[in-house]
Amino acid sequence: MLKVILEGHDKYYGLTDIVRMFFGEVSEDHGNSCVIAEDGPDVTLVNTLEKDGSSVTLVSGTGKRYAFDGPALEVGREVKRSLYMALTDITGIEMPWGCLSGIRPTLVASEEDSAEELTKKYLVREDKAALGFETAREELRLLELIPAEDLNIYVGVPFCPSRCSYCSFISQDISHHMGRLGEYEAALEKEIRTLAPSLKRKVSSLYMGGGTPTVFNDEQFARILDCMFSSIRIDKDCEVTIEAGRPDTITGYKLDAMREHGIGRICINPQTMRDETLSKLGRLHTSSDIVRAYEQAKERGFEVINMDLIAGLPHETGDDFVKSVAKLIELDPGNITIHTLYKKRRAALSKETVLGRDDDRGDIDAAVRKGYRLLYEAGYHPYYLYRQKDTGHGLENTGFAKGDTGCLYNVAMMSDARDVLSFGAGGMSKRCFEQEGTTSKHRVERCPTVKDVLTYISRSEEAAERKARFFEL
Ligand code: SF4
Repeated sequence: MLKVILEGHDKYYGLTDIVRMFFGEVSEDHGNSCVIAEDGPDVTLVNTLEKDGSSVTLVSGTGKRYAFDGPALEVGREVKRSLYMALTDITGIEMPWGCLSGIRPTLVASEEDSAEELTKKYLVREDKAALGFETAREELRLLELIPAEDLNIYVGVPFCPSRCSYCSFISQDISHHMGRLGEYEAALEKEIRTLAPSLKRKVSSLYMGGGTPTVFNDEQFARILDCMFSSIRIDKDCEVTIEAGRPDTITGYKLDAMREHGIGRICINPQTMRDETLSKLGRLHTSSDIVRAYEQAKERGFEVINMDLIAGLPHETGDDFVKSVAKLIELDPGNITIHTLYKKRRAALSKETVLGRDDDRGDIDAAVRKGYRLLYEAGYHPYYLYRQKDTGHGLENTGFAKGDTGCLYNVAMMSDARDVLSFGAGGMSKRCFEQEGTTSKHRVERCPTVKDVLTYISRSEEAAERKARFFEL
């Protein structure tokens, strides 16, 4: 069991983040001022914040001490850095993003003048520092295109035609909830119709995501689009994206309906182009279905097609992933988004595996590097990036775009600097207020919508009223 005792500060949150990157599950014991990782080695560390603002991490009983040789960072970051140095030495593992444990490393990158500074100050590996620095600049450029006074809208459909085995998203498998989909459609339309008339703000971007929004049948899908476009003021310059996700849910009728409303962006997500994996994951389509759906969308003139891939899927090697990247590049979509997935839940791993003798870690990392290289060579550049908290390998998810096709909604949503109004079960609406004097430039207020679909179905009008109050409409 690894124990980290806090001295002179109370930055539990940051320290648990660092310990989690190495050992998975972590708990906080405020009574004894420590954080504990049951799966860690039997070591006690003392993480101290000194009076001069620097931090030292000592290994109890050994006299070993870890402190950065250079100017101190802001407190929260400083204590994380010395702990990260100690854990790197103890485990022999260096994380790709160094001591940046948050979900938005580009936020820190945007504060720096060069990629080298990220490596120097935060111990970020050189390739990730370059990626973070470049992406941060592009995120900022795209964010400038989204006026702060505008709204960005999300419409959520947490249903899928079947459940992919690796999915952690709370999505309702339609085979078990077939009878409820119509009710969900009605509830969603009711929420939109109740709230939309009070919206006076211009809408910069609208994103319909899931789950799989195209899970609805043709008529239901067309009705929802009609409802959105007749209730919400969607100007010609509003960016509208529909996640069509699984190709087995895409029909010519739905594509035509989208185009009739002038929708220019669509996501068709293979996750992998390897048929054997698709079948093992429980997805009800093949790679040829993906190509067919892609060509159907292309023929209809969608301006930007995004395609998602996942590195580290179960039943796949790094090479399989790289081949999928190459196949998508051949199709030439405007956007390709690379997600990384850790194969096993960390809690299920043995202590030895957690400590780094897991081949997956290096394999996924190398495959992602190769995939990125192929994308750069094909003319794509990264435009937004985020991380998930429980990835064991510490990697990231990166959206790549060709030319000026990056998705504004993705940037707005990840920035925590633009307001987002969410319709549908499980959505998170947020308001972002500028602030000074802290490392974060915005203060964010959030208004979640109930996740349970059945509760949402019976109370979507209430959800609309809550959001009207939240946005002071
Ligand atoms: S399509 Fe996406 S949201 Fe739906 S089950 Fe598969 S991974 Fe989960």
